[in-house]
Amino acid sequence: MENLKILRLENSNQIQIPLCKFCYGRNFSKKRMSLVKYSVSISIVKTSIKVCYICRNFFLGTLPSVVNKILTSEMFGSTNCIPTIDIGTRIPFLFYENEDYIRSMFQIKGTTGIKTQINLLIREKIRKNKKCLIDHLNPELKFDVVIEYDLSFSVNCKAKEIYLLGRYVKLGRGIAQKDRNWIKKDSQTFRKLIDEKEKSIEQSIRKSVWSEYNPEDMKITWTGSEDKYSLVLGSGRPFFVKVINPKIKGSDEQKVLEEDVELHFRKIGYNQIDYYGKYRILVTVYVKLDEKVRNISHFQSRMQKLGGEVTFRVKNRKTTRNIYFVKLVNAVEDRLELLLDMDNGIPIKQFVGGNEPIEPCLSNILETKCECIYFDINDVILNK
Ligand SMILES: [Zn+2]
Repeated sequence: MENLKILRLENSNQIQIPLCKFCYGRNFSKKRMSLVKYSVSISIVKTSIKVCYICRNFFLGTLPSVVNKILTSEMFGSTNCIPTIDIGTRIPFLFYENEDYIRSMFQIKGTTGIKTQINLLIREKIRKNKKCLIDHLNPELKFDVVIEYDLSFSVNCKAKEIYLLGRYVKLGRGIAQKDRNWIKKDSQTFRKLIDEKEKSIEQSIRKSVWSEYNPEDMKITWTGSEDKYSLVLGSGRPFFVKVINPKIKGSDEQKVLEEDVELHFRKIGYNQIDYYGKYRILVTVYVKLDEKVRNISHFQSRMQKLGGEVTFRVKNRKTTRNIYFVKLVNAVEDRLELLLDMDNGIPIKQFVGGNEPIEPCLSNILETKCECIYFDINDVILNK
């Protein structure tokens, strides 16, 4: 009774508890709405003038502003494509306490709680207005509404991560794949720094993804690497980008052309990463020998033994890949130029020199010391 004293009518034994139509409807639709306790008559009054005992007029005063804030969120973007959403709320403990107090006094059981009703109302208004679907498990946008004791509130929106299959083409020599200077920074600092640094593929990727999706962060996964001086031609080497909490929906496919670098991006599902991570490459390998080439046809015939399985160790695990085709393109003095069609992932320098265990390797096959000077990727044959 203590916390109801304030509601006692002047000079009487009556207490009136004002409830807004929402809190009233949720609790009293079919129940009696007055009782006598300690010879005080307590009655529930449905009102829109007085402050609701349970929700402090949240439903009438604050909820429309919350809905409006979500509706005008820039996360919806301006595209016609409507995302799936979910909305969660955190409400002041006082709301539960007040509702529990009334419910135990009037012995109300099994009706909808205040938080459930708030969630339902907000979701329903957004769903109708935006014509979007609610998805509790894996929504594209998740809104978190936090309501404070003084009924001020905040709305925070997180977007589901996007996965991109990227490919890069490197038309000029001297561009590193990874950015050695890269230190995690917020996007603004990064943008300021971007032009001051040495050009790299990573830098171009980050710049493109940032301007297209404006994410909180991103994670790049490479599918192998080549030298700074190697070219990557044809359809380009694949890589993956996990775009974390993108603030812009961005396009499904994108092509970026820069000086000596071409980037392609395409949205894919997380479960497609393994599929696109396996591919074949067509490589030109430039080899230096310990001696001048004397018998080309001998080399040519020996080289056929390179086709088939290649076995090597990666992180102490035996790994097997395939070579589909080998051709000696050119032999001048102590230099060879080879063309190979192979699975991605074969360590090419190791395969030529054989300094670390690999079976077969060019040095052993040709019975002379070979060294890979550099290699270029002519094309990438991606899983369709
Ligand atoms: Zn209320």
